Amino acid sequence: MLLVAAGRALFQFYLNREKLRNQLAYETREASRIKELDTAKTRLYTNITHEFRTPLTVIMGMAQQTLEKPDENLAFKQEMILRNGQQLLQLVNEMLDLSRLESGKIALRFIQGDVIAFLRYMVESFHSLAESQQKQLHFLSTLQELDCAYDPEKLRQIVSNLLSNALKFTPESGNIYLSIGHSFQNETPSLQITVKDTGIGIPEAQLPHIFDRFYQVDDSPTRPGEGAGIGLALTKELVNLLQGEIRVKSPVTGSNKGAEFTVLLPLQMAAETIAEGLPDAWAEPLARAKSTACNTPLLPNPVPAN
Ligand code: ADP
Repeated sequence: MLLVAAGRALFQFYLNREKLRNQLAYETREASRIKELDTAKTRLYTNITHEFRTPLTVIMGMAQQTLEKPDENLAFKQEMILRNGQQLLQLVNEMLDLSRLESGKIALRFIQGDVIAFLRYMVESFHSLAESQQKQLHFLSTLQELDCAYDPEKLRQIVSNLLSNALKFTPESGNIYLSIGHSFQNETPSLQITVKDTGIGIPEAQLPHIFDRFYQVDDSPTRPGEGAGIGLALTKELVNLLQGEIRVKSPVTGSNKGAEFTVLLPLQMAAETIAEGLPDAWAEPLARAKSTACNTPLLPNPVPAN
């Protein structure tokens, strides 16, 4: 009897000790999770604040100058105010889009048309920026044209983010290639868009994290380029919404630098429901995409970017 009671007491003692150990381990884990979250929050606030402060400082400085010296370089100042205002608006829109995508509040709006012409137009819209930074931007396609259903706004956001990053992380006299092809993903015909650059590349250990929101490989104030670590998270969410896939490779094959992002989007040859009432802002780009398709000669087949 006594032995049984002693056994029970011992068992209870071990049980309590184990419980205490588990509790302690849980609390230590929780404390380190909270610390990590805290660091991430601080990093986010610093990045976001910086992203807002820089354009706001330019806008205020330029506005002040137009008041003090209204006759001096007015067009330039207005241009700077507009450009920095647009940058701010884009950041706010991206943040909103990200949270709307997460809560499933963004709908697809397909149109029927030549997606190659549209992508060519998109690349062309980045040409002057590339040129001003002394970088070469190339458009390569194995397809002359492809009539299918696509969502222009989502495609624009995906391609813009990838091209902006490629430009941002590629030093002067570097090359950026956007190539288009097609492949089969699980027997589904897919459009393949690859953005490849000869830039600084991404360290292997960081590759699994770059699609996390607010993640930046280098978040020091002296890092090359600006950004809040939203672009790739948003891109991935958009690709998911389109039931596609995004992959990254760095360094690129045949080189010890550069990054290559490949987006695979299932091809729908006909839009089941064509979006009605697309925003007016799309009328001109789409008309220009159509006309460029007829006038611009196609570049040769994709070449490796080393
Ligand atoms: P950011 O707004 O900081 O550019 P992104 O989400 O677009 O945020 O990208 C996350 C991080 O991935 C970047 O901060 C950068 O470190 C890395 N990255 C993205 N694209 C490239 C690229 N083409 N070359 C090198 N690094 C890249």
